Amino acid sequence: MDFESVIGLEIHVQIKSKSKMFCSCPSPADDAPANTAICPICTGQPGALPALNGYAVFSAIKAALALKCEIRKESVFARKNYFYPDLPKAYQISQYDKPLAENGKVELPSGKFIRVKRAHLEEDAAKSLHALGSQELDHTLVDFNRCGMPLLEIVSEPDIRTSQEAYEYLTELKKILRWADVSECDMEKGHLRCDVNISIRPMGDKNLGKKVEIKNLNSFKAAKDAIESEIKRQKELFLKGEEIAQDTRLWNEKLQQTISMRSKEMAHDYRYFPEPDLPPLILKDEEIEKAKKEIGELPVEKAKRYISEFSLTQKEAAALSENKHINSYFENILSLNKNKEVLRQAVNLIMTQLFAKINELKIKENEIIEKSITAQNLLQIAELSVKGEISSAAAKKLFEICWDNSLSPAKAVEIHGLKQSGDIGEIEEWVKEAVSANPEAFTDFKNGNEKASGPIVGFVMKKSKGKANPKIVGEILKKIR
Ligand SMILES: [Zn+2]
Repeated sequence: MDFESVIGLEIHVQIKSKSKMFCSCPSPADDAPANTAICPICTGQPGALPALNGYAVFSAIKAALALKCEIRKESVFARKNYFYPDLPKAYQISQYDKPLAENGKVELPSGKFIRVKRAHLEEDAAKSLHALGSQELDHTLVDFNRCGMPLLEIVSEPDIRTSQEAYEYLTELKKILRWADVSECDMEKGHLRCDVNISIRPMGDKNLGKKVEIKNLNSFKAAKDAIESEIKRQKELFLKGEEIAQDTRLWNEKLQQTISMRSKEMAHDYRYFPEPDLPPLILKDEEIEKAKKEIGELPVEKAKRYISEFSLTQKEAAALSENKHINSYFENILSLNKNKEVLRQAVNLIMTQLFAKINELKIKENEIIEKSITAQNLLQIAELSVKGEISSAAAKKLFEICWDNSLSPAKAVEIHGLKQSGDIGEIEEWVKEAVSANPEAFTDFKNGNEKASGPIVGFVMKKSKGKANPKIVGEILKKIR
């Protein structure tokens, strides 16, 4: 019997901001001592009044636009009431029936769209530290530093069908939010947290099965594994004819299975009502326009354009579009160059040499890339290579020479003697030497094995220090075959 899974994700993203959502407490550093970034507002003291963080609102607008949402020009904050030690006010300020944004979508690499139901602003709760297993500390501690940090909750429609799609959705979401500079989305640091809603039904059935929620998944892999395990658990229950309870579960990484946390009977009634201490959030057209301008063309849109306009591969287009700094460098290259062949060479150099440097030196800024090798210089190396003045091996060497060097590539070619030799006499000498050094390979080559020329050409390139034009080497070899 075939089943279909119906999966929706609820994501909480911490908005990158200097201060908290409703007070002027600074955002605490990850290693800040407990309870040092707090004030009467974020610890819920009587009489303390919230004041909205405009920067966090602007970031949320950017995120919502990047998620292709409709922005509600008048949204309303609401109190979500529940009692828990990490929530000193006994309510969280969130948004309920009038959220900031609705009806968005995220495109997966397959071209499938996952609809975004809503995105709204809220404040984070404190962090409970369960010191279990210790005799002296057999109790729970609470650190209020995180309490009141700005969050964006993004709720998808149940359009996801497999654990892989959930993984891809999370990956795309992270790309988009980092692009819009809304959050670093570092899951290890708790910037992004994920809850999953999941049910199964026999293939073709239009009714939805009982929905199970898996809470607090703290890595993309955990989300994927938890979904897979939960689908399996629900299928087994279904096939045994047992009922699937509508409950909330936690993922146990060690056991690689979900564990029931609370059943439906204990489900919360949050008794939402409009926050009396905050007026409705009214957005001006200028703010929305400004946010649109800041986001610009999205990575996925850029990647599509690079593939159709410049014949880049999917891999190249993705690599050159998803990081803002690399992309700005590449856009520079595009604006300076109009030659297709030169662009191809430039892309090859970026994909190999430049990315190796970026990884090696852990470069994170466009200015540093541009300072170490200007777009003009990279294009000049590509151009010298296209014109046949340097070999591809020499192009790589030239890149190394020009890195962090004020020497122009043309000058460097002269100084380092990298000019490719088109001198047939000279190349013939090298080929002769290579053939006598590799007699077996040459015999193989003569007998029709094209690949056997590899060691011979390699010998010539080494001997000539990369200067021999490989095309001419190939021609000479064919002639003396
Ligand atoms: Zn505070």
